[in-house]
Amino acid sequence: MQDIEFDFDFFVIGAGSGGVRAARTAAALGARTAIAEQRFFGGTCVNVGCIPKKLYTYAAQFAHQWRDAKAYGWLTGELPSFDWQILKDNKDKEIKRLNGIYQNLLGGAGVTIIEGRAELTGPHCIRIGDQQVTARHILIATGGKPRLPDIPGIELAISSDGFFELNQQPKRAMVVGGGYIATELAGVFAGLGSEVHLVHRGDILLGNFDREIADFVTNAIESYCHVSLKTQIKCIEKNIKNKDVDSDLLVTLDNGQQVPVDSVLFATGRTANTEHLGLQALGVTLDDSGAVVVDENYESTVPGIYAVGDVINRVTLTPVALAEGQLLARRLFGPASESKRPAWSYDLVASAVFSDPQLATVGWTEDQARARFPDVKVYKSKFRPLKHTLTGAAEFTLMKMLVDPVSDRVVGVHMAGTDAAEIVQGMAVAMQAGATKADFDNTLGIHPSAAEEFVTMRTPVAK
Ligand code: NDP
Repeated sequence: MQDIEFDFDFFVIGAGSGGVRAARTAAALGARTAIAEQRFFGGTCVNVGCIPKKLYTYAAQFAHQWRDAKAYGWLTGELPSFDWQILKDNKDKEIKRLNGIYQNLLGGAGVTIIEGRAELTGPHCIRIGDQQVTARHILIATGGKPRLPDIPGIELAISSDGFFELNQQPKRAMVVGGGYIATELAGVFAGLGSEVHLVHRGDILLGNFDREIADFVTNAIESYCHVSLKTQIKCIEKNIKNKDVDSDLLVTLDNGQQVPVDSVLFATGRTANTEHLGLQALGVTLDDSGAVVVDENYESTVPGIYAVGDVINRVTLTPVALAEGQLLARRLFGPASESKRPAWSYDLVASAVFSDPQLATVGWTEDQARARFPDVKVYKSKFRPLKHTLTGAAEFTLMKMLVDPVSDRVVGVHMAGTDAAEIVQGMAVAMQAGATKADFDNTLGIHPSAAEEFVTMRTPVAK
């Protein structure tokens, strides 16, 4: 498999989830592999995404737990105080540890690590600083970056990257957007005690998910955030005018309202990192959003140049990037039987939003299912979790299951509520295995649990 014509068999640009998995898999299969990274090992997920975000959501959940403890006899007295800097320092330490682990994993697998910015200078040529190397196959795994709209005062705002650098908790925070990051970070700010204004241009938060589940989560978020829907930001300025309010910034909305806040966070989507890589000069086609266009083998329009993960903007989730990176490496460097290894179904990728409450989903939404299976059966369960029978908190869980009546296959599972991500992961396995509603009915529940609702749904709701 080795090709002495080139310095490397495989050169990966970007040591995030997709790039690291591809490089390690390729090296384990005997390919002479190198990886270039200019910023941090582990990419977005480890440094400014999934991992630190989840740590912050754990921190935010304690506020609920103190509140709930009283009903169970814990005489907690006053709410303990929260120190943002301690959380940030501990988060930074953990991320540093993970950076080291990623580097060790690569080194241990025999991957050559090159720290610096890589750029393509020819179909098989890469330049990193003063160094020029050649490779038979090149993988672009450069991920994405936050996309902020061009409005007056945008330089005063932060993105999710900036959120993880904040050394001080804003007393009042504005979060802009209605997707994953906006709802997750609004929940974190609020749980940690900030006053939160969530501003979204759409008529519902999380509008790309099942409408009913999104509506349920929107209502729940409205109970602890000031949510402005169908609203956009007109401009941001330093708060000099409104001196009687102690805040750093003044935000003007398109409805004329002015909101004094200490921090404005834009979570208005992400864009592929394809600039200054020399891609277009080589003829690599990018789509309108700047993402690399690839075929079913993750090969770009230039043979030998591949791309996986957020940079192809297909399904921008860490497990998808990992799976794409691994699949590509196996197809390229595995035994001949691996070269045609099929991809998994992109339609059955489960995902979760770690908002408060959590939302998790796999398969079609009700609208998508109705378009495909006209008589789709909808099963639903809405309940107050057992824990809250004592606390009295107005927290509910909503679960939905969609079934194609012809095949009896479960074609969509959606949940909003505590532990949604943990529960729906198991549902994804069942759906991947082609489970029917009868299979769910024949499964005994774990009692008492929220998850058992998914195997005790007996009557579909009326159309
Ligand atoms: P999303 O695509 O989820 O949401 C972007 C939001 O910003 C949408 O509500 C969109 O509104 C709005 N928006 C876009 N452009 C503008 C604009 N110019 N002005 C005002 N609003 C705008 O992106 P995120 O940034 O939240 O996250 C990026 C990706 O990262 C996600 O799609 C997801 O794949 C991944 N991610 C996954 C997580 C997880 O698995 N838990 C967590 C965080 C991120 P509209 O709907 O009207 O277009």
